[in-house]
Amino acid sequence: MPVLPSPAAASSERPLRRSAAWLATLFLALVCVSLLMVEGWSSYTARKTYLNDATTSTVNMARALSDHAEASLDLADTILAGLVERYDHGELRDDPQRLQAVLASTVSRTKSLQGMFLFDADGRYLLNSLAQPLTDIDVADRAYFLYHRDHADKQAHIGSAVRSRSSGVWVIPVSRRLNHADGSFAGVALATVRIAYFRTFYESFAVGAHGTIFLASDRGQLILRRPFNEHDIGADISGEPIFRLWQQKGETGSAILTANFDHVERLYTYRHLRNYPLLIAVALSKDEVLAPWRASALAGGAGTLALLAVLVALGMRMIGQLIERDRLQRELRDAKTALEDNNAALQLLALSDGLTGLANRRHFDQRLDSEFKRAMRERTPIAMVMVDVDYFKKFNDHHGHVEGDAALQMVAKAVMAGQRRPGDVAARYGGEEFAILLPDTDLAGALAVAEQVRLAIAAAAFAHGASPFRILTVSAGVHAFVPQRGQSVRALVEAADRGLYQAKAEGRNGVCAEPVELA
Ligand code: GH3
Ligand code: MG
Ligand code: MG
Repeated sequence: MPVLPSPAAASSERPLRRSAAWLATLFLALVCVSLLMVEGWSSYTARKTYLNDATTSTVNMARALSDHAEASLDLADTILAGLVERYDHGELRDDPQRLQAVLASTVSRTKSLQGMFLFDADGRYLLNSLAQPLTDIDVADRAYFLYHRDHADKQAHIGSAVRSRSSGVWVIPVSRRLNHADGSFAGVALATVRIAYFRTFYESFAVGAHGTIFLASDRGQLILRRPFNEHDIGADISGEPIFRLWQQKGETGSAILTANFDHVERLYTYRHLRNYPLLIAVALSKDEVLAPWRASALAGGAGTLALLAVLVALGMRMIGQLIERDRLQRELRDAKTALEDNNAALQLLALSDGLTGLANRRHFDQRLDSEFKRAMRERTPIAMVMVDVDYFKKFNDHHGHVEGDAALQMVAKAVMAGQRRPGDVAARYGGEEFAILLPDTDLAGALAVAEQVRLAIAAAAFAHGASPFRILTVSAGVHAFVPQRGQSVRALVEAADRGLYQAKAEGRNGVCAEPVELA
């Protein structure tokens, strides 16, 4: 039934849009990701700050420690230089007791000094700062003694840490060469600096349980390390990463390194002493430095996760509600579409004939009216075919009404085939009468359509026991004209009807037309 509006057309205005649930999910995901990113970033920068602050504090400590070491050694050397001066002026020869008393008082007043000694060219004791003479002490094998015997310079020499032969305590030997008047080797003046003095100082620094401080020769021989262990003294630590760093960077440097000897990762800062071949380094354990950061990052992370959980839970609920709303909306829309479809079907029913499915009389009259007016406006011809079943009363009487209805359905099919162009309307005009409206069609065209319909019905050879033709036939009246102003549709219908009447009169099973009126 192409002339009627399609029910599908009513539901075609559903817009293609993103659902609110989808947008809410995207929004929730974005919020969660942003929250995680902000938390991650702030945690990352906090960690960097902790490490930077710790490095700064190692730089400051290294500075203080190197100044302290330098000052302690300078003091020992200054005192030593005074002793050498006195020796050169013959004080040992002239008044050894007085010189001994001076040494004793100097050592007792100087906390860092363990003792002061003079040895002759064979390494035997000449004088010392202690109360008793040490007649049995021989230092001819000590590194500092051999150094001065073999080197003519009168500069101070800092030796490796040794255990004092006079007292048994660990000391750093600071020594200078003694010369005879002719410049030949006369012996060694020695001041020993207590390692315990450094140790006490180093232990006063807060470097944590796994932090470390060490003093070593710049060739890698360990003098003292915190935590203190006697067995570390003299150890070769030249293979440690911190030594490679010093070889690369010079005077001072900082880095995060893992020590070879205990595999602890630390933030190191080393400093080379200005006037002595010594290196001081201070290091904080990275684990310890980051412990407070870890705690706060964990708390922050837990807080963020809790917030995320609440957010996701609420978000999911909201999304659930949106999905439900969308579902309801869809259902409503579907219901509306169904209603519209129903309406369309109802409309179709209102405009169509129940038995044959053709347009009904009402619909035909509406279309006839509008097409007639258009033909009048556009001065185009309009045609109408009126079809009536022959001897139908007899058919009913002979075959019964049920068979009569079937015959009408067969006739309707043939009439429907006469409706070819979009504007054509085939209709059940009433009872066993059918009509075909053919806009923009002249009489010849309309006659052809009518004849086709008649022939199709005859060809169907539908048995009609009470007809002289023995088959069901139809008669048709045709009329066509260009409607004039003031003419009514009745002129067309009545003329077609007259044609039909004529066809009946001429013996039925035929098509007749009134002659075309001249415009
Ligand atoms: P003719 O047109 O050839 O002059 O003879 P006829 O017998 O067809 O005459 P008429 O047009 O006067 O009769 C119409 C009959 O059609 C009356 C009625 O019994 C029958 N009829 C009308 N509508 C229906 C219908 O819907 N179903 C059935 N079975 N019969 C119908
Ligand atoms: Mg009739
Ligand atoms: Mg009839």
